Amino acid sequence: MKFAKRVEQLPPYLFVEISRKIAEKRAKGEDVITLAIGDPDIPTPQHIIDRLCDAARDPANHRYPETDGLPELRRAIADWYQARFNLSLDPEREVLPLIGSKEGIGHMALCFIDPGDTALVPDPGYPVYSIGTMFAGGISYFLPLREDNGFLPDLDAVPPSVAHCARLLWINYPNNPTAAVADLDFFERVVAFAKRYDIAVCHDGPYSEVAFDGYRPVSFLQAKGARDVGMEFHSFSKTYNMTGWRIGMAVGNEQMVNALMRVKSNLDSGIFQAVQQAAIAAFKGPQDCIEEHNAIYQRRRDLVVKTLNSIGMKVNPPKASLYVWAKIPTGYTSIEFCTQLLEELLVVVTPGNGYGPSGEGYIRISLTTPDDRIEEAMARMSRWRAAVGKRQ
Ligand SMILES: *Cc1c(COP(=O)(O)O)cnc(C)c1O
Repeated sequence: MKFAKRVEQLPPYLFVEISRKIAEKRAKGEDVITLAIGDPDIPTPQHIIDRLCDAARDPANHRYPETDGLPELRRAIADWYQARFNLSLDPEREVLPLIGSKEGIGHMALCFIDPGDTALVPDPGYPVYSIGTMFAGGISYFLPLREDNGFLPDLDAVPPSVAHCARLLWINYPNNPTAAVADLDFFERVVAFAKRYDIAVCHDGPYSEVAFDGYRPVSFLQAKGARDVGMEFHSFSKTYNMTGWRIGMAVGNEQMVNALMRVKSNLDSGIFQAVQQAAIAAFKGPQDCIEEHNAIYQRRRDLVVKTLNSIGMKVNPPKASLYVWAKIPTGYTSIEFCTQLLEELLVVVTPGNGYGPSGEGYIRISLTTPDDRIEEAMARMSRWRAAVGKRQ
């Protein structure tokens, strides 16, 4: 048999070698700690689980759901945007529930990219932006995110010849993997750029509720004119520890929401209604879980930042997201550094270049591992640098 090019073009899974080594070590009974995955370790709040259980017993929920979701869910999403961002969205036209935001992000390329078209994609970035583009036959033009520019793309550096061909621009703040945040001033520059070149903007914002030190991330849609050119993807995954439930949403520009709805209605048959009802309970129920979880992540963040700084890796505490993005010591590539942490300490972190070439020289440490395991991993790192120091 002969596979399609889109399958053959899929990049080799960068972590194959690391995954193999982890499995090998665990098989030998070695105590490997992984700080590599962005998947909350804290369970989903109980009232959301209870709502799912009740809703699952209702036969009305056992049938095919509508692709565009329950009207009550679209209304709950609109109400949440109103309460959280002071934005009023039309639940019939500007809101679309998704089977996890990843699903919508992947399908979005099918709405805008014909073979040979260009998408502007952050580097480093969440891989689905560029893979979705490739699946649609398009080409990703990578926008490097550099520390000296606050990990924001430099839109003025995009050659006008490229910008004129681009159909779609992807942005993501609070950012995965760099943990950077953006303000309305940046989003307004994005809107101006998109209007100048007639580009649709997709802002991916699943970390808007995971923030520290009292910081409150903004929505792209709060930027003046944003709804003329773009939409925002959001998710229940990171806000309510619901990664396994598969539910998210797209909101914003009516035509974009409609195009995504039309594509999706030909590919999937919506979200299990009991999960939709649980999501409504998440938005309408008590919200104190968010602050409680952020306090836990903030303590973990502080420990990781303190440890890294004490061993000579300079990092500033991130204001949001589930990650610490840290520059590695000179003399290593990202892969070499990660391999050494695994070999010598049995600690797994993600090499920055796994998110794109501009991630080289960095590692990503995820804060979604239980406290005692993060503490043990940091203790190993402190001892290790002390030992390395003595060896040199
Ligand atoms: C976790 C994550 C998502 C995916 O969220 P789901 O709703 O679970 O599909 C999307 N974008 C980024 C940048 C993420 O880190």
